[in-house]
Amino acid sequence: MDPRDQALLAACPVVAAPRFGALPDMGNGQRIIVARNGWFVQTKLDWLDSIVALGHDQPQMRLPYGEVAERLRFSFGVLPIRLIEAFVAASRERLPNEAAGVLIYSRCSGQLRLAMCEPERASPVHIRYRRPAMAEDETVAVDLHTHGRAPAFWSGEDDRDDQGIKVAGVFGLLDRPRPSACFRLVINGLYQPLGKHPWRGAQDEWPEQGAEAQRGEGWMRRVLWRWRERHLQG
Ligand SMILES: [Zn+2]
Repeated sequence: MDPRDQALLAACPVVAAPRFGALPDMGNGQRIIVARNGWFVQTKLDWLDSIVALGHDQPQMRLPYGEVAERLRFSFGVLPIRLIEAFVAASRERLPNEAAGVLIYSRCSGQLRLAMCEPERASPVHIRYRRPAMAEDETVAVDLHTHGRAPAFWSGEDDRDDQGIKVAGVFGLLDRPRPSACFRLVINGLYQPLGKHPWRGAQDEWPEQGAEAQRGEGWMRRVLWRWRERHLQG
């Protein structure tokens, strides 16, 4: 095999889903799983273990391998709502301008901390910012920004900015008592919307995160957050 192809395969291996045994463990990195029910990308980082379908069409041919279920596990457990609320509060102080912040994961403590990003330029419709300094064992897990008084949505600029692997969150309507928000899991250009969150009027009980994920669409909605409905104070 051409050594360049060997290097590509080492960086992103392909494994067949076992039919009778368990999926072999993997270290930090990314691999493609070919399964009876489709193909998937598994991503492992200090804070993340996820399996996401690369498409929702079943293969036309019945492959002889096992099946794989999508899943999402954070080593820090659930996203801490007090940090999200602290971000919203700090962002309101920066109105009418947009604001940005990150939740930084520490491998040593296994915890997240909030850091606001220092803006280089900020306006009500745009922000350029510097990421805060981090310790050796720290990495950005969640990237947060606001659209100020405008609604939350994923702009073309957000798509250009959302590279690598992280959870991204955008907040809007910050001048209202109840802001709007969208969340998504970003995996190297693959965006997996994370459907429900406290700003959307979730009434349901949330299953424990890390519980065996259900197959099929909407799994994130079922497994992601167990936040109950909460109202931000204006
Ligand atoms: Zn945006």
